[in-house]
Amino acid sequence: MNKISELFGSRVFNDAVMREKLPKDTYKALRSHIDKGTPLSLETANVIASAMKDWALEHGATHFTHWFQPMTGITAEKHDSFISPTEGGGIVMNFSGKELIKGEPDASSFPSGGIRATFEARGYTNWDPSSCAFIKENTLCIPTAFCSYGGEALDKKTPLLRSMEAIETQALRILKLLGNKSSQRVLTTVGPEQEYFLISKELYEKRKDLIYCGRTLLGAKPPKRQELEDHYFGAIKPKVNEFMEELDEELWKLGVLANTEHNEVAPAQHELAPIFSSSNVAADHNQLTMEMMKKIAGKHGLVCLLHEKPFAGINGSGKHINWSLATDTGENLLKPGKNPIQNIQFLLFLSAVIKAVDEHQDLLRISVASPSNDHRLGGNEAPPAIISIFLGDDLQEVLDAITEGKCEVPVRNRRMGIGVQILPDFKKDTTDRNRTSPFAFTGSRFEFRMPGSTTSVACPTYMINTIVADSLMEIADRLEASSDIKADAVSLVKDIYTQHKRIVFNGNNYSEEWVREAEKRGLLNLKSAVEAFPHFTDKKNLDLFEKHHIFNEIEVTARQEILYEEYCKLINIEALTMLDMIHKDILPSVSAYVKDLSDVVLSKQSISENIPCEMEKNLIHSLSSACDILYAKAAALDQCLLEVNALEKIRDAADYFCGKVLPAMNELRAIADELETITAAKYWPMPTYGSLLFT
Ligand code: ADP
Ligand code: MG
Repeated sequence: MNKISELFGSRVFNDAVMREKLPKDTYKALRSHIDKGTPLSLETANVIASAMKDWALEHGATHFTHWFQPMTGITAEKHDSFISPTEGGGIVMNFSGKELIKGEPDASSFPSGGIRATFEARGYTNWDPSSCAFIKENTLCIPTAFCSYGGEALDKKTPLLRSMEAIETQALRILKLLGNKSSQRVLTTVGPEQEYFLISKELYEKRKDLIYCGRTLLGAKPPKRQELEDHYFGAIKPKVNEFMEELDEELWKLGVLANTEHNEVAPAQHELAPIFSSSNVAADHNQLTMEMMKKIAGKHGLVCLLHEKPFAGINGSGKHINWSLATDTGENLLKPGKNPIQNIQFLLFLSAVIKAVDEHQDLLRISVASPSNDHRLGGNEAPPAIISIFLGDDLQEVLDAITEGKCEVPVRNRRMGIGVQILPDFKKDTTDRNRTSPFAFTGSRFEFRMPGSTTSVACPTYMINTIVADSLMEIADRLEASSDIKADAVSLVKDIYTQHKRIVFNGNNYSEEWVREAEKRGLLNLKSAVEAFPHFTDKKNLDLFEKHHIFNEIEVTARQEILYEEYCKLINIEALTMLDMIHKDILPSVSAYVKDLSDVVLSKQSISENIPCEMEKNLIHSLSSACDILYAKAAALDQCLLEVNALEKIRDAADYFCGKVLPAMNELRAIADELETITAAKYWPMPTYGSLLFT
């Protein structure tokens, strides 16, 4: 099988397979369940399960699993085989509707933020038929949502599904009010661009920090970094090419629309972007993509690093979430069309986003907050921690004109740089040129650039869905009470823009002036994850989540708790790893070097007192005093860890990790890196940045 069209989706129980394998009425019932949410009877589920099993067996599967996304950041699966014993001592292959619909994994050790007390440790997985089942290795994977006994969400998919419903409800109200009656459904569409690093497995295995933490905790700058920008879009190395080819093939089999692959700015950094799909499917597929990247890298003697900042001093990795709204009739609700100022439907949806982002900067910030992403946000390569929207000159002009009561803007014939008019409707040159904005309008969608490379697509997406649903609700409420919808819609757009235009910024987000300007505008600047977390449970946010049935208070509090716990655990592991590397590897290695240097001095002097030894002596001196400082700073970090572990409240611990432990680690690193630069290569106990990035 080598034709891509045959390969594509060959391991997915997709619509075509369903149509072929299911009896007609069963297929219809399932379609209507997926498209319209009509209930599915157990008998129908039995028929579906049996067809799924037969199909899976045909493709070599022996097991099935409820595949879900707990709060750990990776997916979870527990495999059961299809076999069931018969009386005669044989077996039959079985898979029932009940097994398809509901699972009860022994999941007591997944993070629950205190929701599941031990006496009710049960969690349930529920089939999500809107994301297709697929076969991974020998296992039929059934995408599921994961809830507690009491129905509280314990995973990342549940809030996403809830938020998709919330925004759909409100978007449909607006469409109806505007007389757009052909659309029955509104879906949020997402195309996540995934950045990652590929490095040699052999070198990776020699670095404890990469093994335990996924990032380097130490490492002096190599002579060359990314200043020449010769890696960006550069020719792909053969080994990497082989990796990308296999990755594409495996992803295509799983129905993932892997599309563009290219080198990124930093050496050894690459990106994969799929063609966008419904946000729920995009979230599942991105999870699969990350899993496959790691697995396939291993086969090629490589390791895929998904950490937000594996190397200091060069770009980190993000996951740009391209987001829009589409109807079942294929209309993109964020497409400005030929004349956006006349396109009131577009303007209303655009205004809803502007209002949402301004009112809920904190939630967007929280959706991307993690200790690893803290290394990236605010660096000179990633968006700052301040949320703002880039609209581009054309749209800004449209909104400014509306605010001034005009209903026309001069149609300027903007052209792409090469002088050819490529884009028929809205010209690209004013929408896609700002790469520094955290939330940029890029012609027919928004691109949220803050999420880190490991973040689940689900989190930022459910936040965007929810906050935009809320703006749409307010807009729909206002329009419903109106007697002249057209006129009131225009004045609504005007009001919203006037009220929220402080969030629009088309300039350079990396500049110092913007930080000052943003402060003047009263925008939030939540510099670290621990500054962001407390806002999760602000009253405004609790109300918002309740109102749209995303979370109740218990669920939000639990999620916040999990964020804090994860924050503390991660930094604790990093600090311990660092101490281990200093004590077990670096100090002994440098001592060995000092000893050899001293032997040189002694042997030189045994020949004659007159042989110069200044270099050796100076070096011995520098190395020894750096080692002393390193030893003292390691002791200081150790002391910090003792103190933080004595703290009872998780919030106090998180603040301490942020305010004391991280700075202590930075100080330690500075000395270690200095030592590295003066230690002879053969003594340094781990691969350097140079070898990790350029070989
Ligand atoms: P760029 O590098 O310019 O940001 P890419 O081609 O790398 O562009 O990625 C763009 C991403 O946006 C792709 O995943 C693409 O499928 C996605 N995308 C395009 N249109 C939409 C849309 N309407 N909704 C969601 N995502 C979209
Ligand atoms: Mg992009």
